[in-house]
Amino acid sequence: MLCVRCDEPILPSEVNPVAAMAGMHQECLFRSIAGPVAHIEHRCGCFIPGSSEGDPPGMTVREAARAALEAFERLDGLKPGALERRTAAYNRWCAQVARLN
Ligand SMILES: [Zn+2]
Ligand SMILES: [Zn+2]
Repeated sequence: MLCVRCDEPILPSEVNPVAAMAGMHQECLFRSIAGPVAHIEHRCGCFIPGSSEGDPPGMTVREAARAALEAFERLDGLKPGALERRTAAYNRWCAQVARLN
């Protein structure tokens, strides 16, 4: 099965039940909902007027998705309550996937 976002195969070892409902890798689903690295790091046009930062240049779709997930975990893991927020984020993804289908 190919990921609908990055077109790379989803290997059996990479199947995430929630992401699989959307036909995506876990990181690709995260990227499609949470936005690019620049958004997670608050460097994009949403936070800095005129900024055109998005996915890191030179990365494949999947690499950029992984980078977004890593940026989120890096930033979020430093703050208190990270586990609770991650659970809430996970529940939001589930709700979003349910709406997509
Ligand atoms: Zn993918
Ligand atoms: Zn943004």
